[in-house]
Amino acid sequence: MADLALLARTLEDAGEPGFRLGQVWRWLASGADSYELMTDLPATLRDRLSAEVPLSVLAVEREALARDGTEKALFQTGDGRPIEAVLMRYHDGRRSLCLSSQSGCPLTCTFCATGAMRFGRNLTSSEILDQALHFRRKEALNHVVFMGMGEPLLNLDAVLASCERLPDIGVATSNTAISTVGWIPGIERLATEGPRVRLALSLHAAEESLRSELMPVNERYPLADVLDACREWSARRNLPVFVEYLMLAGVNDRYEQAVELAETLIPRELFKVNLIPYNPTDSAFGGSSRTAIAAFKEALEERGLRATIRLTRGRDIDAACGQLAARA
Ligand code: SAH
Repeated sequence: MADLALLARTLEDAGEPGFRLGQVWRWLASGADSYELMTDLPATLRDRLSAEVPLSVLAVEREALARDGTEKALFQTGDGRPIEAVLMRYHDGRRSLCLSSQSGCPLTCTFCATGAMRFGRNLTSSEILDQALHFRRKEALNHVVFMGMGEPLLNLDAVLASCERLPDIGVATSNTAISTVGWIPGIERLATEGPRVRLALSLHAAEESLRSELMPVNERYPLADVLDACREWSARRNLPVFVEYLMLAGVNDRYEQAVELAETLIPRELFKVNLIPYNPTDSAFGGSSRTAIAAFKEALEERGLRATIRLTRGRDIDAACGQLAARA
């Protein structure tokens, strides 16, 4: 969206009235791909903005289109950091955009490709919104998930600032979800600060020791405490928590583990489990079979938990969950 601070300064230098900033933003939010289109701005101002304020702070390095219509964009920030964003297109008209909050990720979840790449830095809210605007220039969007690179709750100020503006782009707050490994201070802030976005927790194992092996962050914030924070968030926001559970063959997909998960997610009506088929990365894990996933789902449902199986999208272009690593 252009660097909003630079845009504001340039408008001020040009002696423009205060309403111009909102005017330009509305054009950008509705998908305008040049200042020339902004016909309610004076022509001289349009020329000046074209010369002085780049339309995006991100450079598009590469785009890839999967057979299922999923599209991935690899961007580079002004200081050369790689980031990726993915648009998932569904037959029912749903357009779900997966955004990155950091270049790389400082956490080291063992199954995730992003965790294996070098951590760069937090993204600014302009860099987050520019990922969305890139796709908004192609078509209307209606859902956003912060499930791309990075841990959104480690960059919460910028993430919330971008969430504030998503409705202008066409994405309702009720259709915006932030996913976390369980960074408790961030979950606590989300309970009271910012728009009422949805919360998703990457859980992956109900046993503390196994979860720590898979996700070292569990040593710092153990699952039991994370779930307490989620319950508190849920009570404050009056919303259920989405639980993501990656299905790893022979690791966390046994019947007893489904039972333990169901016993951990109490009260059950607070949680909705989304079982995620594992997408290949360079890790040593293998994905659970379809039948193992179906059986796990049934075991959860028998105990009164709501469970769904995530559709895998964009695998052929390394755009699926856990595959974002900015490989050229
Ligand atoms: N750091 C946040 C945001 C990223 S969300 C979080 O972890 O929640 C990305 C989701 O994809 C997470 O649920 C993550 O656990 C999952 N994931 C990671 N590697 C994966 C893989 N190889 N296959 C499928 N899902 C994976």
